[in-house]
Amino acid sequence: MTKRIFNFSAGPAILPVDVLEEARDNMLSLGETGVGIMEHSHRGKAFIGVLAQAEADCRKLANIPDDYRVLFLQGGASSQFFMVPMNFLTSQETADYLITGSWSQKAVAQAKRFGNVHQAASSKDRNFSYIPKTAEYSSKAAYVHYTSNNTIFGTQWATEPEVPAGSTLICDASSDIYSRPIDVTKYGMIYAGAQKNLGPSGVTLVIIHNDLVKRGALDIPEMLQYRIHAENDSCYNTCPTFGIYFMGLVFKWILKQGGLEAMARANQEKADVLYQYLNTSPMFRPTADADSRSLMNVTFVTGQDELDARFIKAAQQAGFDGLKGHRSVGGMRASIYNAFPKTGCEELVKFMKDFENQNS
Ligand code: PMP
Repeated sequence: MTKRIFNFSAGPAILPVDVLEEARDNMLSLGETGVGIMEHSHRGKAFIGVLAQAEADCRKLANIPDDYRVLFLQGGASSQFFMVPMNFLTSQETADYLITGSWSQKAVAQAKRFGNVHQAASSKDRNFSYIPKTAEYSSKAAYVHYTSNNTIFGTQWATEPEVPAGSTLICDASSDIYSRPIDVTKYGMIYAGAQKNLGPSGVTLVIIHNDLVKRGALDIPEMLQYRIHAENDSCYNTCPTFGIYFMGLVFKWILKQGGLEAMARANQEKADVLYQYLNTSPMFRPTADADSRSLMNVTFVTGQDELDARFIKAAQQAGFDGLKGHRSVGGMRASIYNAFPKTGCEELVKFMKDFENQNS
């Protein structure tokens, strides 16, 4: 096999090797069925079992109460940007959005097509380098939407925002889903594209309270109604079978590691390796405020574009892939999702130290 390198990609991202191997083994025959996982009918007994197990493990990991539905949809998190307001916001209503980066802004742009948007908080004034500490909510928001981890800017909410009692909180958790424990009861809905912490691209996890499922608009296409997907157990049409299967394997892998508490501990340790070094390095510095830093995407710069470019190139040659930061921040970004090993962070620090010595 070709040697696997340290993959710091922001997504699609590194996945657990055990899971990749198991998926490989089931490609030609899922268990003893004689039919590969991608070749099974979504209506057949074998796949229905796969789906049920994936949902059961997803529920177990986050203690999802019975009055929430777990849905596996398509169209990426970007489709949730419009499905949410299409279902829950009318032209007479206002939804509150907490703006902490490009993905929040994209969500707002879609919501404006359906109703009014109130920006309850924003960190745009300093290029989204921090998580706002206060917010001004409107009196009767249809819902409050926020992005728990800002993949591009390397910031993360330490915990969910304090919203007025009775609010419907909706979270885009695409880049930190199941990286730490989550209290689902605080949310009306949580959604996440799979391709960072949960599996391949092409499947979106939606955890949604029954009340919201019922509240959704009826005068929109069926494929865009949560109700229809809930009534049909995510199989209204041909669901993303391979993605669901793979996500199920990742849920099992997380359970085996010790669940979300274990993920949180490991993710904290990995991020500490990088931030502790960045805090003292004479060459590199983190871009996000200390109290807002993401445990998933560590963004940093040297302060000189030419030196950043040289570092990224040298790192790539040394087997550290995907470190180039997003163009809106520049510099570097090390994405260290659940499956990323701590040794990768330690090796990167060693490499950075060497680079520093050679280039100072
Ligand atoms: N939200 C966040 C926080 C993301 O990081 C991304 C993708 N990087 C998206 C939404 C968009 O996801 P998708 O590409 O699945 O539509």
